[in-house]
Amino acid sequence: MSKPYKRVLLKLSGEVFGGGKLGVDPVVVQGIANEIAQVVRGGTQVAVVVGGGNYFRGAELSRSGMARDRADYMGMLGTVMNCLALQDFCEKAGIETRVQSAITMGQVAESYIPRRAERHLEKGRLVIFGAGSGMPYFSTDTVAAQRALEIGAEVLLMGKQGVDGVYNADPAIDHTAVMFDTLTYDQFLSEDLKVADATAIALARDNDLSIVFFNLSVAGNISRVVNREAIGTTLSR
Ligand code: UDP
Repeated sequence: MSKPYKRVLLKLSGEVFGGGKLGVDPVVVQGIANEIAQVVRGGTQVAVVVGGGNYFRGAELSRSGMARDRADYMGMLGTVMNCLALQDFCEKAGIETRVQSAITMGQVAESYIPRRAERHLEKGRLVIFGAGSGMPYFSTDTVAAQRALEIGAEVLLMGKQGVDGVYNADPAIDHTAVMFDTLTYDQFLSEDLKVADATAIALARDNDLSIVFFNLSVAGNISRVVNREAIGTTLSR
């Protein structure tokens, strides 16, 4: 059996935190925290980027009339609430956890300092990155790719709500949709697949960062993907 990854960047989409609704579902977050705690105890260094789609997406708010940049800041602040919920449950599960925010908010989180994040990881702490990039017009997928590269993660693990991997069509609409086991970055981009944003994929391609898309809604999947079991869709060159 192949060895688990040593250092991973796990991207959790905001949708997962809310269990499909607005806000945070504590039962769901506790379940994810327990799974993360298990892989950290197994010796894998884990950093997390959390999304905020369970609160606000800037693009959606701007279609309802808000200025895009302000709406995006609301989106970024939403991700921090998810970070704090995840931190709480991870600490309850016995894992020391630090939140680093790309927007300064000293009372609740450290600032994003990549080398300090690496030190935390080396000490066996979980690091959760919040507030996206701190910049409007970006997505947390892109931030996940950037953080993975900057902290030297071996792989970017993209956890999705209720979807097993990347399909050739939306499986919720088209029942004939087929899931890819593997895909190249260029296939992903040329087929305009919507599972992650194109900027994130281009950044991964240009820096040779593998991405695994997997279903977070299946219990035990975080451990499976960290142990390199062949689940989901792997994106590489
Ligand atoms: N966002 C942003 N800059 C970033 C990351 C996120 O402006 O670097 C905003 C953007 O409005 C986005 C929202 O935060 O819609 C929530 O992030 P995202 O949509 O990526 O969350 P997810 O879909 O993963 O839940």
